[in-house]
Amino acid sequence: MQLHVVDHPLVAHKLTLLRDESTDSPTFRRLADELVTLLAYEATRDVRVEPREIRTPVAPAVGVRLSHPSPLVVPILRAGLGMLDGMTRLLPTAEVGFLGMVRDEHTLQATTYANRMPDDLSGRQVYMLDPMLATGGTLAAAIRFAFERGADDVTAICLLAAPEGIEAVRAVFGADAPVRVVVAGVDERLNEVGYIVPGLGDAGDRLYGVV
Ligand code: URA
Repeated sequence: MQLHVVDHPLVAHKLTLLRDESTDSPTFRRLADELVTLLAYEATRDVRVEPREIRTPVAPAVGVRLSHPSPLVVPILRAGLGMLDGMTRLLPTAEVGFLGMVRDEHTLQATTYANRMPDDLSGRQVYMLDPMLATGGTLAAAIRFAFERGADDVTAICLLAAPEGIEAVRAVFGADAPVRVVVAGVDERLNEVGYIVPGLGDAGDRLYGVV
């Protein structure tokens, strides 16, 4: 597993505003959207392309286009939905699958409550969207789900991660697995109820309100 922490002043600036408890939901949604587009630029560095011949007004030229099958973008519901538009803005031809996962507040175990994913992911690059990599249980379950359906390359894009979550995902898949985690920041730790410290609170609640 490779970890890529995007070290960029614009990312740090937007992340600081996102963390601030006085940031309201509309602003939080806009910042999350902007941050994802910046992270997606890094996360798609290895997206597969194939040669494409075109004609410019001056001469023939060879460029590239995204390979087939197209990448699959998977927001992990509910909070991952807040990252979808920012991702598809950069990859408009990607297909989108949905995974609904919830973690038990006491055991912190993840269970799947919704699945709108293709059965066959052979040869597909998959981009998972989940703002908070906390214990790693949800992300590890989602990545395993993609590998079981034949995906051979999974990139997770997260806004924030805890060291415990990164280690948990690395422990499940090993150092050499085709898994990449791209994050805007790695925080200090998890607290006793599984929140990232200092973090930004509950990402789903801050995006969409308390349900
Ligand atoms: N999920 C969140 O929304 N926030 C955290 O800090 C941890 C998990």
